Amino acid sequence: MAFEVIPLPYPYEALEPYIDTQTMQLHHDKHYATYTTNLNAALEKHPQLANQSVEQILSDLNRIPEDIRVAVRNNGGGYYNHGIFWEMMAPNAGGQPGGSLGQAIQSAFGSFDSFKDQLQKTALARFGSGWAWLSRRRDGGLEIHSTANQDTPLSEGLFPILGVDVWEHAYYLKYQNRRADYLTAWWNTVNWPYVQKRFEQ
Ligand code: MN
Repeated sequence: MAFEVIPLPYPYEALEPYIDTQTMQLHHDKHYATYTTNLNAALEKHPQLANQSVEQILSDLNRIPEDIRVAVRNNGGGYYNHGIFWEMMAPNAGGQPGGSLGQAIQSAFGSFDSFKDQLQKTALARFGSGWAWLSRRRDGGLEIHSTANQDTPLSEGLFPILGVDVWEHAYYLKYQNRRADYLTAWWNTVNWPYVQKRFEQ
C-alpha cells in the first residue's frame, strides 16, 4: 500500500489572514504531495517495507536499506511532518491550552508565555530549513528542540506533540524574509485540542 496524500482538514483559505491561501495550496498540493510521491518511489524498491507505518519506518532509519535511506529520511520525514502539521492548525484556533497539557507546559517551562517564547526562539534560530518542536521524551518529560530539513523527532527517540514548519516555502509568499512575523501569526492557528490529543497519546 502506497502512502497517500492526506487532504487538508479545512479549506485552503481557512487559515487567513495568518497563513495565506496560495501558500496553503502550494505547500499542500505541491511540496507535501512531492514528498509523498518520492517516498513511495523509494519504498517501491524494497517491497518488504510495504506493510510498515511511516512512524515505524522513521523510528529506526538504520534498518532502512542504505540505497534508499537518505530518500526515506527526507521524503518520509516530509510526509510525516506535514501530515501532522496540517492537523496542528485550524481556523478559529490559537489561544492557550488548558487541561493536562496546559499544566505540563507550565511545570516544564514556568509559564505558557515562557514556553511560547522558547519555541519561537528555537524556530528563529534554525539556520536554513527545518522545524521547531515541542516533543515528549521517553521519560515523559517535555522538550523544545529543532530538526534540520525534514528530519523528525521520531528518529531521535522523541514524540512530536506540536511543530512548526520554518522552511521558507511555509511563509515566503506572505512574509518574505520575516520569519518572526510568520511565527507570531502562526500561534493564532494552533489547534490545541489536537495537540492535547497527541500529548495524551
Ligand atoms: Mn513544509
